[in-house]
Amino acid sequence: MPTSIPHWAAGAPYAGTSGLTAPVTNPATGAVTGTVALASDADAHHVIESAAEAVAAWRATSLARRTQIVFRFRELLNSRRDELASIITAEHGKVHSDAVGEVTRGQEVVEFACGISHLLKGSRSAAVSTGVDVHSVRQPLGVVGIISPFNFPAMVPMWFFPIAIAAGNTVVLKPSEKDPSASIWLARLWKEAGLPDGVFNVLQGDKTAVDALLRSPQVAAISFVGSTPIAEYVYCEASRFGKRVQALGGAKNHMVVLPDADLDLAADAAVNAGYGSAGERCMAISVLVAVEPIADDLVARIAERTRTLVIGDGAAGTDREADMGPLVTRAHRDRVASFVASGEAAGAKVVVDGRQTAVAGEESGFFLGPTLFDQVTPDMEIYREEIFGPVLSVVRVRSYEEALALVNSNPYGNGTAIFTNDGGAARRFEQDVEVGMIGVNVPVPVPVAYYSFGGWKRSLYGDTHAHGVEGVHFFTRGKVVTSRWIDPANRPAGGLELGFPRND
Ligand code: NAD
Repeated sequence: MPTSIPHWAAGAPYAGTSGLTAPVTNPATGAVTGTVALASDADAHHVIESAAEAVAAWRATSLARRTQIVFRFRELLNSRRDELASIITAEHGKVHSDAVGEVTRGQEVVEFACGISHLLKGSRSAAVSTGVDVHSVRQPLGVVGIISPFNFPAMVPMWFFPIAIAAGNTVVLKPSEKDPSASIWLARLWKEAGLPDGVFNVLQGDKTAVDALLRSPQVAAISFVGSTPIAEYVYCEASRFGKRVQALGGAKNHMVVLPDADLDLAADAAVNAGYGSAGERCMAISVLVAVEPIADDLVARIAERTRTLVIGDGAAGTDREADMGPLVTRAHRDRVASFVASGEAAGAKVVVDGRQTAVAGEESGFFLGPTLFDQVTPDMEIYREEIFGPVLSVVRVRSYEEALALVNSNPYGNGTAIFTNDGGAARRFEQDVEVGMIGVNVPVPVPVAYYSFGGWKRSLYGDTHAHGVEGVHFFTRGKVVTSRWIDPANRPAGGLELGFPRND
């Protein structure tokens, strides 16, 4: 029997009243394992109301107490990481070790948020003018909405909610309807950690739920992560309703390989970053830019490695360890396969064809093997579109300058990498490339929690990146207080002075 996956409000599961649900599948078997509630406007209102009611008490809770709860959440998460990873694998399809990695990277943000007392410290200047002092404070916003994509059902929400909660906000998380169970597991964990009811809430659903969050006068800010068209919509719509918004969008990440690079390491990196999580990562490498004369050699080394990958059910305890699991849904698998057909029709050379990959015993799963294209040109659909699957396209160029121009002319600017042993070239790349996150001999340069995560151009709408100090800034508002306390021993002269006050 598929399990029912509810919303979460006021510290308890909430079934909702819409009567609408969507199926949730295990992508490795194709079986329907759950039905997730889809919110109506009324359901959304109920969940947002739960968050709104909790604001006053939570923002007044001492920093010491808030920090203790975040610490406890971290301890529980750390001890049950495997449990959450199994839930992720069962609905997303990524292999268990990768799911553990996802939880670990999310946990790092929780650890960062444990230092919130330090992060919220304001500043103070004494005697800015005679008898006048100035100090600054940062205060929470109120209710914040987090809308997350399917590809990191635990880590992406954890980019935001630990900091939002630690800073004194209350949260409504709207997870992807494709893998919604992780959100309810996290809600239960918060409860166990002692978080007061209503501080962390989950609103399940589709566009109706999203629109309710974007338009609710009770929601102060929106953190969105997903595809570029929806990021742009969310940014415009939430801004129209007066909210603070950060909307992280899609990607087309290029990995440049210069002729002096260590080609074995570059080939390993291309395979790991191209096919890890079946290419369903916003930091996946989808374009490899080979600076001649190394392309033939590099393509051969990558192709050789793809043939050693084990594709299969990534659940822990299965009889063999898979390197790569299925794609998230049948529709997505078919869409990615249609991109492979489009690349072939456009004249790209199919070096490895994932459509031929058979996964024994898992015929009903949504599998597609690693695919490698060579001789791809920028006019082809497989170069222009974000495929979000295990498809790596090799574009051949003649020089570093041509490689840089290609990366910079792409409308996306999420991540990129350069592989070289030439420090000067790497430094020039770092300075000149128009991308938010850069790896030097590192293919998936996801910043650590105390830096911030975010792209440029069509990979980010808004100006604030996720987590790190930018995250603290996003979830708080600054106030500056100018004060004068009357000291009878040194009383100001008083009198009327209508001119603009001068500081002296
Ligand atoms: P998506 O845009 O389809 O969905 C993201 C969220 O928006 C989900 O919660 C979904 O329910 C909601 N949504 C979908 N359609 C909507 C609509 N018409 N109106 C309102 N809300 C809608 O993205 P996805 O397929 O779940 O995730 C994959 C995408 O996310 C890729 O493009 C990937 O690059 C991107 N992503 C980006 C980052 C980043 O940091 N930049 C990180 C992870 C994923």
